[in-house]
Amino acid sequence: MNQKVFVTRSSMPPYEEYIKAIKPLWINHQITNMGHYHQELEKRLKKYLDVSEISLMVNGHMALELAIQAFDFPEGSEVITTPFTFISTTHAIIRNHLKPVFCDVKLKDGTIDEDKIEELITDKTVAIIPVHVYGNSCNIDIIQEVANKYGLKVIYDAAHAFGVKYKGKGIGSYGNASIFSFHATKIFHTIEGGAVTFFERHMYEKLYNLKNFGIRGEELVTDIGANAKMNEFAAIMGLCNLNYIHTAVENRKKRYSLYMENLIGTKGVYFFDKNKDATSNYAYFPIVIEDTYGMNRDELYTCLKKNGIYSRKYFYPLTADQACFGNKYKDVKLECARKLANRILVIPLYEDLEIETMWKIIEIIQCGGVKKCLKIK
Ligand SMILES: *Cc1c(COP(=O)(O)O)cnc(C)c1O
Repeated sequence: MNQKVFVTRSSMPPYEEYIKAIKPLWINHQITNMGHYHQELEKRLKKYLDVSEISLMVNGHMALELAIQAFDFPEGSEVITTPFTFISTTHAIIRNHLKPVFCDVKLKDGTIDEDKIEELITDKTVAIIPVHVYGNSCNIDIIQEVANKYGLKVIYDAAHAFGVKYKGKGIGSYGNASIFSFHATKIFHTIEGGAVTFFERHMYEKLYNLKNFGIRGEELVTDIGANAKMNEFAAIMGLCNLNYIHTAVENRKKRYSLYMENLIGTKGVYFFDKNKDATSNYAYFPIVIEDTYGMNRDELYTCLKKNGIYSRKYFYPLTADQACFGNKYKDVKLECARKLANRILVIPLYEDLEIETMWKIIEIIQCGGVKKCLKIK
């Protein structure tokens, strides 16, 4: 194979459709600051995500930073979270001057181990920030039970979970707030973008202020805000992409099933369990490489790479083990999370991934199972 295949590839709406859609911006010259298309996208996403309130943001990271800030937690408070995630989750907590308390995850699906949350709660704990990792829903009911018992807020990092339903309701309608990422590499995108979803109407005003410097009036600033507004070009990209989201998910589902049907018998490869109460958006295809497989995860990664297939070790290292934190969290007991981090591999999945390429990936993984790094010409 001479063409490089990456783990993901951005979906693009038809060129003509986007060009036609941005034309009105040359008439009134309003290209940012909560313009017409920003409002339009909020309306349409509320419906698609099946949530009662939404606030668009410049990206998923700022959505999480500001969602946390909106609750005005006392400085130094503790937040129980997962280390098996993108670094953004942990950064957003620390950049809010809060302390991340890492909870282990479950081997069977990579989400926070809801049975280990309670033992981490202290009188400084204010919130739980779980992640619906790869779009797999956390055990929302148990997490909410624990939160209710101790009066904690729950903010979900739902960056991967666009369009997922839990018990028939939009996944973004659970907890006190959820954040989504609309980055170019995600299943639905606005080039760069994100959103906070929530149910309390007063949060809308709060987030509106926080994403616009805290400006309340021409001469009045009431919050120490940031600049996290989604611009109109991005909002229009979202509106266009939303027209095709159904097809995008269907195309992924087809590819997801093809992988699953053909890899399921491979010795030493296992797949995450799916939460039975949640739907799937087929955003990623993570595989876990066991000791019984013919090679280790890094060897399979290299073997794929030699064939021009760029898989990713998401999420290795754990956020808690990243260089920026030194040895600060080295002694935290994260047995399952560390085990997963050393065995996880996310293989290419996107809506127009060529079926022929998929067969090659399948063949390479099957051969790796019997210690052979296949070289495909
Ligand atoms: C992508 C992602 C984010 C950050 O979103 P951006 O839009 O890239 O800022 C946060 N958390 C997780 C789990 C992500 O995958």
